[in-house]
Amino acid sequence: MMNTSIAIYPGSFDPVTNGHLDLIERAQKIFGHLVVAVLRNVDKQPLFNVTERVEMLREVTKSWPGVEVDVFEGLLVDYARRRQAGVILRGIRAISDYEYELQMAMMNRKLEPRLETVFMLPGETYSYLSARLVREIAMLGGPLTGLVPPQVEARLRAKTA
Ligand code: ADP
Repeated sequence: MMNTSIAIYPGSFDPVTNGHLDLIERAQKIFGHLVVAVLRNVDKQPLFNVTERVEMLREVTKSWPGVEVDVFEGLLVDYARRRQAGVILRGIRAISDYEYELQMAMMNRKLEPRLETVFMLPGETYSYLSARLVREIAMLGGPLTGLVPPQVEARLRAKTA
C-alpha cells in the first residue's frame, strides 16, 4: 500500500532553484516515480502563485519521465497515503537545516510509521542556495546566473521589474 519506489519531494518552490533541481536529478535516478509536490500554503505571502510555481517546475523537469509535479494541501502524511508513496524526500544544505528537518521527520514518523523520510545532499555549489535568497537578490536587481534555470530567471526579472 505504501510503495518505497514512489517518493514525494514537498516544498514551497517559490521559485524552483538549481539546488532543488540538483536534488531532483539525483533522486529521479533512485526512485521510479518522484512527485514534486508544491505546498498550497494559505497564510504565506508568496512571490509566485501556485500555478506559476507548478508551470516553472514542469518546464524545468520535463526531460525526466519519472518526475511528476503536483500540488497538495493539508497534512503531508495524508497526501503521501493518497499517492501510495512510501518515501518523503528532503534536502539538507547545512547543519542549520538539520534541527527543523529532524523535528518534521520525527513528527511525520509518529503520524505515519510506514513512511520513511530520506535526506539527500545537493552538490556543494548549491549548499548555500535558498529560494528566499533568490527572491531577495531578484528584488534588489542582483545577478541570478547559476542560481536558477534561465526560464525562472526570466520570470523573476519580469516579476521584479
Ligand atoms: P527553500 O528552503 O529554498 O525555500 P523549499 O521550502 O521549497 O525551499 O524546500 C523544499 C526542500 O528542498 C527542503 O527539503 C529544502 O531543504 C530543500 N532545498 C531547498 N534548497 C535546496 C538546496 N539548495 N539544496 C538542497 N536542498 C534544498
